[in-house]
Amino acid sequence: METKEYRVLLYYHYVTIENPEEYTQQHLEFCKSLGLKGRVLIAHEGINGTVSGTVEQTEKYMAHMKADPRFKDMVFKIDEEEDHAFKKMHVRLRPELVTLRLEDDINPLEVTGKYYSPKEFYEAMQEENTVVIDARNDYEYELGHFKNAIKPDIKTFKELPEWIRENKEQFEGKKILTYCTGGVRCEKFSGWLKREGFEDVAQLHGGIVTYGKDPEVKGELWNGQCYVFDERIKVPVNRVNPVVVGKDYFSGEPCERYVNCANPECNKQILCSEENEHKYLRACSDECREHPRNRYVAEHGLTEEQVKERLAVLA
Ligand SMILES: [Zn+2]
Repeated sequence: METKEYRVLLYYHYVTIENPEEYTQQHLEFCKSLGLKGRVLIAHEGINGTVSGTVEQTEKYMAHMKADPRFKDMVFKIDEEEDHAFKKMHVRLRPELVTLRLEDDINPLEVTGKYYSPKEFYEAMQEENTVVIDARNDYEYELGHFKNAIKPDIKTFKELPEWIRENKEQFEGKKILTYCTGGVRCEKFSGWLKREGFEDVAQLHGGIVTYGKDPEVKGELWNGQCYVFDERIKVPVNRVNPVVVGKDYFSGEPCERYVNCANPECNKQILCSEENEHKYLRACSDECREHPRNRYVAEHGLTEEQVKERLAVLA
C-alpha cells in the first residue's frame, strides 16, 4: 500500500474537562505549534475534533493526547490523504459537544445505547424487527446512508428528539440501531432514546468511518458516500459493491458533487454536475440566481445582459 504524506484524524471523547475556556486556548496554541489544521470543539463534557497534518505532526498530536490521562482511551480514526483537509486551525469552546439543547442534558458516561462493532451492526441490520435510524442531517443522508435506514425529516440534530416523539409508533417494541459519522452524536442520541423508554437501543461504535475501514464488513450495506465536515466533503465507505445514491438537484441524475448555492445569503449545499452548475448559475432557485451578490456571476464576470439571457433560456 502506498503511503501518503498527510493524515486526517477524526476523534471525540466524552470526559469532564475542568476549565474548558483555559483548555481551549492551550489546545489551540498546541495545535498551531505542531502545524495542524482543523476544527476542534471543546466543552465541559469533552472534546470532538477533525484535524489534518503530516504523518509526523499527527503522530505527535496523538502521542500528546494519549499521554493526558483524560484522553488516554480516545480512539483516533485515521485517513491517509495527499494534503490538508482544512485551511486554518480553529479550537472553539462550546456549551455541548453536539447541539441537542435538551432541557435535561444526557451524559453518555451515565446512559447510552449498547456499542455494536461493525460486524455486530452489520448482522443486526439484517434481523427482523429492527429499525435503523440515521442520526445525521438530511444533506448528509442524501449523499449516502445504510440501505433501509430511516431518514428523520429534520434539518439539524437538535430537532431529532421531537421528531422521534412524533413518530414513536414506528419504533416501539423494536430493536433500534443508530449511527452517525464518527459516533459522537449517537452517544447522546442513543442515551436519549433509552431515557425516553426505548429498551433495545444500539449504536455503531466508531461510526460510519470505522465501518468503512472494517476488514470484515468492508462497508457493505452502505449506499453512496459518507459526508464529512472538511474540504474532502465525502469519503468512500462501501468497498464491496458501492452504488451512487446522490441525485443532481436539477436533473435527478446520479451525482455526488456538492456545491454551495452562489447566493451568499443562501449558501445551501446542493448536489449538481458541472454542466448544471453553469446552466443554473450555481443557484438553488430563481431568487438566488438573480441575487445581486450571486458569486457565480461575479466569478465569471457576467454582465447584467448575459445573466438575463441565461435566465431567459431557463424560463
Ligand atoms: Zn439558494
